[in-house]
Amino acid sequence: MNYTSTRDSRVSVPSAVAIANGIAPDGGLYVPTELPPLTAADFEELGRLPYPAAAARVLSLFLTDFTGEEINDCTAGAYLGSFEEDEPAPLVPLSASAYSLELWHGPTCAFKDLALQILPHLLTRAAAKTAKGQTRVILVATSGDTGKAALEGFANVPGVKILVFYPSEGVSAMQKRQMITQRGDNVGVFGIRGNFDDAQTGVKQIFTDPAAKEQLAAHGMGFSSANSINWGRLAPQIVYYVVSYARLLKQGALKPGDEINFVVPTGNFGNILAAYYAGRMGVPVGRLVCASNRNNVLTDFINTGVYDRNRPFYTTLSPSMDILISSNLERLLYHVTGGDCERVAEWMSELAATGRYRVDDETRGAIASLFAAGCADDTAAKAAIAGAFQAKGYLADPHTGVALSVYGRYVTETQDSRVSVIASTASPFKFAGGVLSALGAAPQSADDFAATGYAVPKTIAELKTLRERFTTVCEKGDMWAMVAQTLGL
Ligand SMILES: *Cc1c(COP(=O)(O)O)cnc(C)c1O
Repeated sequence: MNYTSTRDSRVSVPSAVAIANGIAPDGGLYVPTELPPLTAADFEELGRLPYPAAAARVLSLFLTDFTGEEINDCTAGAYLGSFEEDEPAPLVPLSASAYSLELWHGPTCAFKDLALQILPHLLTRAAAKTAKGQTRVILVATSGDTGKAALEGFANVPGVKILVFYPSEGVSAMQKRQMITQRGDNVGVFGIRGNFDDAQTGVKQIFTDPAAKEQLAAHGMGFSSANSINWGRLAPQIVYYVVSYARLLKQGALKPGDEINFVVPTGNFGNILAAYYAGRMGVPVGRLVCASNRNNVLTDFINTGVYDRNRPFYTTLSPSMDILISSNLERLLYHVTGGDCERVAEWMSELAATGRYRVDDETRGAIASLFAAGCADDTAAKAAIAGAFQAKGYLADPHTGVALSVYGRYVTETQDSRVSVIASTASPFKFAGGVLSALGAAPQSADDFAATGYAVPKTIAELKTLRERFTTVCEKGDMWAMVAQTLGL
């Protein structure tokens, strides 16, 4: 199977090239030209298999230029030994019809680990197929969680250097500490004076700058991306939606043909897009509920067809969703317009020029038939966290709190009683301050969780003892200078 660009249908490359490059040369995103169908027999098997084997089955449908052995090595390397109880995506019942899909039992306590533990394995194999001998330089823009998960995944991986840019005032204290104490000889971490959108725009500019590319090539290097624009991150995220559906079937919580909703706290639109792909492969999806925080550009887009980033940017208790340019939406637009690259390219250039575009009624209708959207500010998210803890003893982080709040309102408004899986994207320990204030306690430190009876994850407890290695903060216009300096160009 080949991959094309959302902005140029002449592009046709195998998955290894899509993964090694990260972003298409025209600035578009790589998309699969087919969506492989899953049968009832597939779901039956996927419901029985352990996670690494199930992941290999699903990934092999997309990465057809990788051998079965390569894919098995990748999924075993990623998912055996790095997640609590070797279970990357446990389903925890919240009620008769709602489940929390806990995606935060990996090394950095956020759902990004599901993709970023496997991406280094995929990328090094992809690079060996496409650009043998070249050092891969990975640039990452992060709103907090991707940076740490990527650093952890790529630290000391041979043939790779990784440089991370985060908004110096836009991540939680815990997220910052996780990044600036990162171990590894091939890593670099920089704060920028700007927000996540500035970091993401800066990284995209460097990626698509021919002069930068040339300079790297002259030194035997080439860029790669670990952001969710990379297909190598999206594909592993499809797995847990397919697997959670298959497991609910096996448990008897769903009968064949019963529809399932996915509720996803959303920023860059990557995680919820993976649920969309699961639906296109045959998971009978009822609604995809897109949950935003106070930065509700996606809520407005899904409800009106107008994407408008010209609005205040808010810093919230769910920083990984403090985003106004949701890159992966471009892929959804591509698919719902039946692959209309010209129209997608037009909307994206309008977005770049004016910060705004309006889709036609047909496209808007196609999106509205699949998605529901809502937003929750910090007060609403905290109320949802407190509610889940008091009613069910369930501890949710503020991102998951946004999803719980939006889901609660969705059910009240629609009376939709279909089984719903809510993506729980971070450990409550990672955002201790927000969680504790939601529960009415004075936020102090992660140790305060002792009072809840939960054990603090080891990787969080040990942060206190680690040395700060990376304290540079630069202007948003100086990102390339930092890259060039670090790489010795
Ligand atoms: C990244 C992140 C999100 C948003 O995911 P997208 O794929 O960007 O929509 C939500 N919650 C947490 C905890 C995250 O780290």
